[in-house]
Amino acid sequence: MTQKVVLATGNPGKVKEMSDVLADFGFEVIAQTDLGIESPEETGLTFVENALLKARYAAKLSGLPAIADDSGLVVAALNGEPGLYSARYAGTNGDDQANRQKLLRALADVPTEQRQAKFVSCIVLLQHETDPSPIIAEGECFGQIEFVEKGSNGFGYDSLFFSPEKNCTFAELEPTEKKKISHRAKALAVLKMKLQK
Ligand code: IMP
Repeated sequence: MTQKVVLATGNPGKVKEMSDVLADFGFEVIAQTDLGIESPEETGLTFVENALLKARYAAKLSGLPAIADDSGLVVAALNGEPGLYSARYAGTNGDDQANRQKLLRALADVPTEQRQAKFVSCIVLLQHETDPSPIIAEGECFGQIEFVEKGSNGFGYDSLFFSPEKNCTFAELEPTEKKKISHRAKALAVLKMKLQK
């Protein structure tokens, strides 16, 4: 028998990615938008807090287990910015181009050796609204912010994120390659491992 689980996102790519992993564990993923549930205000100060409050809200309104994720780019020289505000760093939600330009301006005077950054993905699974022991799975990718954009694949900050592991930016990787090594892939692998227990 399958167990329904609500995914606190309307993003079709994420629904597919999560569905593939969770199907192996007998879960059927339903996007919260299909239940008419909207996202709550993200008032947390960390990725895990925001993922938790999104999952808790979806669990509360649906009466089902819920899963949520939160991700972003953390730049050491900027005190962790854009961090939780990665999607709307330049003001408008999802304006990737403006976000990248703002990041380049903010780092204009920062030398190569101080341009370390990481992508973070945090996935949370709650059995119910008051579940005191959620499954928390985090994945990180470490790299450096370039001085100019390189590559045309991907989205968000990919063309500025140099991966030492791959010796190119995430936007220069084939999507299938990025999918294998990304912060999201790592978080999903941790989720899988924890579900297996
Ligand atoms: P969200 O968790 O889907 O809201 O993503 C937050 C924001 O972080 C995105 O809008 C991007 O700006 C950035 N981000 C998260 N993951 C990636 C990635 O894999 N590549 C590039 N940017 C990312």
